[in-house]
Amino acid sequence: MLPIVPHAWSPPGPLDLQAGEALRRRARLQMVLAEAAAYVYLFAFGAILGSFLNVVVYRIPRGMGLLRPASRCPCCQTPIRLSDNLPLLGWVKLRGRCRACHLPISPRYPLVEALSGILWMGLAMAELFSGGANLPGYTPPRNVGALWLMWQPHWPLLRLYVYHALLLYLLVGLALIAADGFRPPRTMWLIWLALGALPPLAWPELHPVPVSASFAAWEAAGAARGALSVLAGGAAGAMGGCCLALAWQHRSQRADLVLGLAGVGAYLGWQAALGTCLLAAALAILAASLARLLSMARHVPSLMLVTGAAFIHVPCWRLLVELPAWPGPQAGPLALAITAAVAGAAAATAQMLIPPPSPYAATARAHAPHEPTSSADPQPPNNPAVDG
Ligand SMILES: [Zn+2]
Repeated sequence: MLPIVPHAWSPPGPLDLQAGEALRRRARLQMVLAEAAAYVYLFAFGAILGSFLNVVVYRIPRGMGLLRPASRCPCCQTPIRLSDNLPLLGWVKLRGRCRACHLPISPRYPLVEALSGILWMGLAMAELFSGGANLPGYTPPRNVGALWLMWQPHWPLLRLYVYHALLLYLLVGLALIAADGFRPPRTMWLIWLALGALPPLAWPELHPVPVSASFAAWEAAGAARGALSVLAGGAAGAMGGCCLALAWQHRSQRADLVLGLAGVGAYLGWQAALGTCLLAAALAILAASLARLLSMARHVPSLMLVTGAAFIHVPCWRLLVELPAWPGPQAGPLALAITAAVAGAAAATAQMLIPPPSPYAATARAHAPHEPTSSADPQPPNNPAVDG
């Protein structure tokens, strides 16, 4: 028997097809524009947070308040106009100079704002909008992409994104304070560590890689699962940090290595703590080789290396665990021993590669003890755009 076809239907003519294609193209363009708007929004949000980080990094180590006094040029004390204080745009508008005294504003400030913008936007691209494509073994939600997320928010993935973005964002602040020659304040360490250790108690899935592949009670364990993963991560990170610190010349930076890697472990779990430790060791060798090549006696602060390693690890997590012998979800106690040995050897190699300060610099320092004599001496930047 033939199916009944309604008489009202007729095959589309060439004009209908053209109109249909034009509509489809318009809808696609609207979707691309909406997706681009999401990226621009996240970049702007990150740049504003970067601007706030500049204020924190400048004021907190100097014992100044965050909100008062209002932003003013540290040289001429002229208050900064609101329009000159816009992240990135303010620096470009002023062409890198204070409006009143025309002294240069450090380019570090727009760079930190741009870095924070790229962090919040780039991590969204790699983790949030991709459906967790960077996370080893993560099951993506049914619909991925910026538009789907706005339409149907996937809360577990959103939480993971904010959690990982905070890990990197606050670590940049700690590293910048260390790079300025200050010891990162205890309160800032505590806030960063608490934000890493407490949320997994409520949402254990913030640690996507389990402590052990054969941990039978894993799914049912709840808060205990989160606590175990945080503790194991912190311990493995601290162990890796100790192995790096043993060979580290600068005593004052050893604690930063241990705390920094322990914190990364609390956020990401013990396997990722070992992976970050290996990356930090590789970066230490790279930085020391560059210093030797360019005959610079400059020492990259240890916390900068940990930050660089975490910035590589989070977006490339899944790629890294596919490398042979990399500490991944299947790693066992042997990975701890191998990482400890590799990190210790790498740190010792890096320290040997760093060229010693020239005798001239040593003499100059002896004659002028209160003046900075080498590029290694911290120079807190002078920034009218953010300083209070
Ligand atoms: Zn000024």
